[in-house]
Amino acid sequence: MENVVVIGSGCAGWAAALYSARANLNPVLLTGAQPGGLLTTTSIVENYPGFPDGIDGTELMMQMQKQAERFGARTRYGVNITRVDLSTRPFKLWADDELIETRAVIIAVGASHRHLGLKSEELLERKGVTYCATCDGALPMFRNQPLVVVGGGDSACEEALYLTHFGSKIYLVHRRDQLRASKIMAGRVLGNPKIQPVWDSVVADILDAKQDKVVGVKVRNVKTGAITELGCAGVFIAIGHVPVTSLFKGQVETDADGYIICKRGTHTSVPGVFASGDCVDRVYRQAVTAAGTGCAAAIDAERYLAQLA
Ligand code: NAP
Repeated sequence: MENVVVIGSGCAGWAAALYSARANLNPVLLTGAQPGGLLTTTSIVENYPGFPDGIDGTELMMQMQKQAERFGARTRYGVNITRVDLSTRPFKLWADDELIETRAVIIAVGASHRHLGLKSEELLERKGVTYCATCDGALPMFRNQPLVVVGGGDSACEEALYLTHFGSKIYLVHRRDQLRASKIMAGRVLGNPKIQPVWDSVVADILDAKQDKVVGVKVRNVKTGAITELGCAGVFIAIGHVPVTSLFKGQVETDADGYIICKRGTHTSVPGVFASGDCVDRVYRQAVTAAGTGCAAAIDAERYLAQLA
């Protein structure tokens, strides 16, 4: 029987593991399919306090893990939770055939990339359509080719800037005529001669050569309805994220978009189940705020367990 199981290994998960380990709760953290979470798909993290020169996203996550493990947090890789029952005590989590029972749960499952929802997007994934410039940008297929980035937030700007190292030209297709990104990121993008914004536009279709590689996109101007084609070898989609909470549907209260609802601190609708990070937060969504709520979840879990004793 576990005291606390932390599900997820992004900033929220590691902070929760660190704090619950230091509270002598002997937590176990299940990494999920992407150890380190979404931050491992970014390049340099420039806004995590304490790193004035920035830090590589993967490196930051490894440091967090090391710190949590130093105080006794246990890490389990490749444990794929397929079902949970949060209506019983202890709580039950199934990882394929293994049953894990625990007195408290901290959900820190984060979010995954939002898709455009086009059939061509699905068919061409990994054939030129990608959601991660740092993972794929350096592939030979993208070198010295025009590339398209979709989105207008910090992620899209970061992707576009990163891709200037590889592509011949970067089209930034955004559905409005103003970037959502922070001023500093927007300024860098708009000042980069290799990046050409395509305003008020959405990708209506992704063009391929016999479904084996991307050769361009059809872009629709949302104001005029005009359709134009842009030739490109890659489409990098960065239009935000969706919480990865389907596992908890019907078990804890969520909103219509699947974000877990916490009414008091990190308390979900089920006493003893706490939630933190991007699966809860649709407002701030920063590494530092995720770590902060992970810390809060551990403190809430500690108080909950103390009151059970
Ligand atoms: P975001 O801020 O939600 O931006 C998503 C962008 O995609 C918006 O520009 C949005 O357009 C557009 N979009 C959404 N759905 C779309 C659709 N179906 N079709 C076309 N465009 C669509 O997401 P994000 O950029 O991933 O950033 C998430 C959070 O992480 C933010 O809080 C951000 O500050 C943070 N972040 C920070 C950094 C950094 O500081 N270095 C880097 C990455 C992310 P509208 O603008 O019209 O809504």
